[in-house]
Amino acid sequence: TLFCIALFAIISFNSSVSSERKNADPRVEELLAKMSLEEKIGQMTQINITKIVTDSLAAAYDSATTLVIDTNKVIHYVTKYHVGSFLNGRAMPPDVWFRFTNQLQRVNMRYSKNKIPIIYGVDHVHGSSYLSNGTIFPHNINIACSFDTTFAYEEGWITATETADLYHRWIFAPVFDLGKNKFWGRYYETFGEDPYLISKMGAAYVRGLQGNTEIAPYKAAACAKHFLGYSDPKSGWDRSPAEIPDQALREFYLPPFKAAVEAGVKTVMINSGEINGIPVHANYDILTKLLRNELGFDGIAVTDWMDIIALQKMHYVAENEKEATFLAINAGVDMAMVPLNTDFCDHLLALVKEGRISEERINQSVRRILKVKFDIGLFDQPYPRNDRFNKIGSKEHKVKALNAAKESLVLMKNDQDVLPIKAGKKTILVVGETADKKIPLCGGWTYRFMAKSEYWFPKDMKTIYGALKDEFAGSKVIFAKENEIKKLASSADIIIAAAGEENAYAETDGSINDLELSESQISLVKTAIATGKPVVLVLTEGRPRIISKIYDQCKAVLFAGLPGVEGAQAIAEVISGKTNPSGKFSFTYPYKQGHIIPYNHKQSEYSILRPVEGELKRFAICEFGQGLSYTKFSYTKINLSDTVISTSGKITAKVTVSNVGKVAGKESVLWFLADEYGSITRPVKELKYFEKKELQPGQSLEFTFVIESGKHLWFPDKEGKKILESGYFTLIVGDQKARFRLK
Ligand code: BGC
Repeated sequence: TLFCIALFAIISFNSSVSSERKNADPRVEELLAKMSLEEKIGQMTQINITKIVTDSLAAAYDSATTLVIDTNKVIHYVTKYHVGSFLNGRAMPPDVWFRFTNQLQRVNMRYSKNKIPIIYGVDHVHGSSYLSNGTIFPHNINIACSFDTTFAYEEGWITATETADLYHRWIFAPVFDLGKNKFWGRYYETFGEDPYLISKMGAAYVRGLQGNTEIAPYKAAACAKHFLGYSDPKSGWDRSPAEIPDQALREFYLPPFKAAVEAGVKTVMINSGEINGIPVHANYDILTKLLRNELGFDGIAVTDWMDIIALQKMHYVAENEKEATFLAINAGVDMAMVPLNTDFCDHLLALVKEGRISEERINQSVRRILKVKFDIGLFDQPYPRNDRFNKIGSKEHKVKALNAAKESLVLMKNDQDVLPIKAGKKTILVVGETADKKIPLCGGWTYRFMAKSEYWFPKDMKTIYGALKDEFAGSKVIFAKENEIKKLASSADIIIAAAGEENAYAETDGSINDLELSESQISLVKTAIATGKPVVLVLTEGRPRIISKIYDQCKAVLFAGLPGVEGAQAIAEVISGKTNPSGKFSFTYPYKQGHIIPYNHKQSEYSILRPVEGELKRFAICEFGQGLSYTKFSYTKINLSDTVISTSGKITAKVTVSNVGKVAGKESVLWFLADEYGSITRPVKELKYFEKKELQPGQSLEFTFVIESGKHLWFPDKEGKKILESGYFTLIVGDQKARFRLK
């Protein structure tokens, strides 16, 4: 079977070659003509920097505070293997980064036969994740709750501003994966569970990062991760098998990546896992037919970490690394991230010499790699610079991260308007294991892969408890351990209980088999509830941990997600009312872990044959799109310009939204469509458009959504053919509904 896949690959890769050839870049062609096969293969290789730093530091990688390059090692990789890319890092001050990349590049430029600059890749996944003083944004799961793409755009822009000068010109972000499986340890890296929302947010990030003109003459490249179907392993464990039918893959998982390509994303990273029995790194249909021929992606497709060797050692589809290399390259991989060492180069060279992989196939990948290097100006500006570090972690950037955090918080419930707590003589008791720690506010990928200590966190970063003390300076804010709660509660007016996930985790380390909030935290919150005082639960977590045992008894619940370094301030401002919460869920917060379904589930989830009620019907504590404000918005006067739409037509929908409460607030107006009958079962509703605006008390605004048949009313079949079927659709916005017919 493997032989057949490979043969097929050799025969048919030509179609994508020819289309890319048409847009050939003369600079690329000129350079390519001068390169030996060995040099070309070197360009397809990306090495972890642990291989080029001094031995002692490599060993002490996690605790070292500086990085020292071993020049001889760099020379080895550059002269013997012509390596074209390096990656990774840890939190380091800008001057340390500068010295590091500067030296790396200078050695490379001196020894590289054709003077080809290195492209350096770093996981700055929510702001400057690997820069000790950098600005850290909320994680994507939060950004999406803001329903304002400006924040994703600014996150991308600011990340480039703070890191491009350090020669971090390839940023491994954003994640375009569908946030469906709530167990998944990378849930927080997604923009939630809706394909349209992910598409909008991810594309905005790409435009911000790649379109940043402030870093001129530098440019940065984004990376759409992880093509395709990575986020939904059956067991929820990272990199474990996924089974996703082709039709669902196309309807729900693919659109975000299509949006990434349309936004001009320069690179794509491949899913480490297998879908439907084929590891994606060996899947020609996905990596070439779908990504290249169908989506028209012409940038770099890079493997994920060690994923060629994983074809042998994790997936067992290749008997050795050479066969794994053969499969991956023929499937469509352009660059091997962290091959075991440089064996990849030797194997690929042998495969070409044996005639099993054509040199033309190698040229195809090298063209893409060189094109990106030219496009982001690496040949013009191959060195880092250190004369404009003043923007890193600047006040201006922090304010943007704070604003993003504020709008990303979701107020889930607020019985008897217990929030906001008015400043005054109140005594506020703060409890919970996450109340006075920095790490739970930021999660993984913050100042390193998984921070185990607060070492690199800004000294002035506030915890929830610290921020509350400052925000309620005129009140008594007391922190209590579990065994003190009963005693101290008697004099308190209200209890803020912080709970959620305490540790930073990423990738496989985020694997769990129980989504319930930890028993110790449930017990602590229960102790707070038992005092009879109103309890406000604040959740910092990277995925929705099940809280059904305490939810109903808390007076208010605020989902804070992973709001980043400015997060505590945002939380305190929402609690005090200085900020009116406006976040809405970018995912469904499940009620029980035994029944996790997204908001856009199918009709038969509940059917006439199996009437379910009460506890069983309650699948969500909060659905996608829910979130409270301190004011009230009313939706009226829904109106359609026509009740019939043709297959190529448009109709305009309008609705009036009024702020009928007492304070100003922002409202995200979410427009959903429900296709009433479909030959492939339809979701109960789907988000098609959103817009967020601020309304003053008493103010009304009209919101508009133009429905286009060719854009909003079709769905794909399993081959990707668009199906447009006549029949009725229901438009839903707020509590308003209207029906129209596609003719
Ligand atoms: C992750 C990627 C990341 C890469 C580089 C991998 O293990 O899956 O998301 O970009 O490492 O650090």
